[in-house]
Amino acid sequence: MTDTATLQRASKSLDLSPFPRTSLCHQPTPIESMPRLTELLGGPSLFIKRDDCTGLAMGGNKTRKLEFLVGEAMRQKADVLVTQGAVQSNHVRQTAAAACKVGMKCHVLLERRVPGVDASYEETGNVLLDNLFGATHEFRPAGLDMNAEGEAAAEALKADGHRPYFIPGGGSNAIGALGYVNCAKEISDHAETTGQTFDWLVMATGSTGTQAGLVAGFEAVGHTLPVMGVSVRQPREKQMNAVHGLTQKTLEKLGVEGVPLSRILVDDGYVGDGYGIPAPSTLEAVRLTAQQEGILLDPVYSAKGMAGLIGMIRQGFFKPSDTVLFLHTGGASALFAYQEQLIASLN
Ligand SMILES: *Cc1c(COP(=O)(O)O)cnc(C)c1O
Repeated sequence: MTDTATLQRASKSLDLSPFPRTSLCHQPTPIESMPRLTELLGGPSLFIKRDDCTGLAMGGNKTRKLEFLVGEAMRQKADVLVTQGAVQSNHVRQTAAAACKVGMKCHVLLERRVPGVDASYEETGNVLLDNLFGATHEFRPAGLDMNAEGEAAAEALKADGHRPYFIPGGGSNAIGALGYVNCAKEISDHAETTGQTFDWLVMATGSTGTQAGLVAGFEAVGHTLPVMGVSVRQPREKQMNAVHGLTQKTLEKLGVEGVPLSRILVDDGYVGDGYGIPAPSTLEAVRLTAQQEGILLDPVYSAKGMAGLIGMIRQGFFKPSDTVLFLHTGGASALFAYQEQLIASLN
């Protein structure tokens, strides 16, 4: 305990003040124990960092990224945020809410990425909230280069006299990743002030900004905590390379030397049939976390992350004496778009 605590004490300082930023987030988010889930699974000790409680419009991980992205948009005197995502994107919902908070408009492109969806999929959940925030949207078929589509939409708005600021899918560029650099610092500060340290951090990884920001942030403050990303979409190699690429860009932005590819840890065993399609293990994770801890996960991201954590525990990946921190990245507002599958999984 003492050894780890010493090891994990942040040895370097980190200054994010040079980067434009606007306040959107409740932070630091709480770290809570999950005693009943720990007991059910027979250890290790499980804790959860509640980034579902970041506070903006039902919360989630994109709000941390948007503090820096919207900060940059404001610096550029933009009047409309343009972004893209899958139809039930949490990133789009949080961007639409952030635009309202700072008095900008929001225009989004929604990719019909998920096959075989509920009848109400394009109206309920996050889409309902996007509309409530007054965001305008266009649909796109699956498989296009959505960032290129988004940039073209921003160009068209510019030609019409608007001042668009384009945010890539998931807010995952080096600016957005700063939000998770800051989260890494928060976890490191928590260890320093409370003495509570962790052996692993486990989370869902999609567009990569969250994991890249965390790895870059821990590196920047000199805090050694391995970050295991559970892929929600891509095979391991591909996801590792993508996370690594953004980690390097983020470290460069911070003026910190890069890290080797071996620092990026990804498990792709819980993707199931693909992005946005819950596997049986996903639905089990939603149910167990709800019924043991009263915590809502989402069927696209955080429950695949939790299914990974549960699967790794069952495979004996962790020592029973380990303490594992799960990062809850939010997304429960999408549960309603998966009503039929959820109901079927409870019977
Ligand atoms: C976007 C998202 C993730 C994945 O984060 P990335 O930075 O895109 O890898 C995880 N969980 C939820 C709920 C999300 O909306």
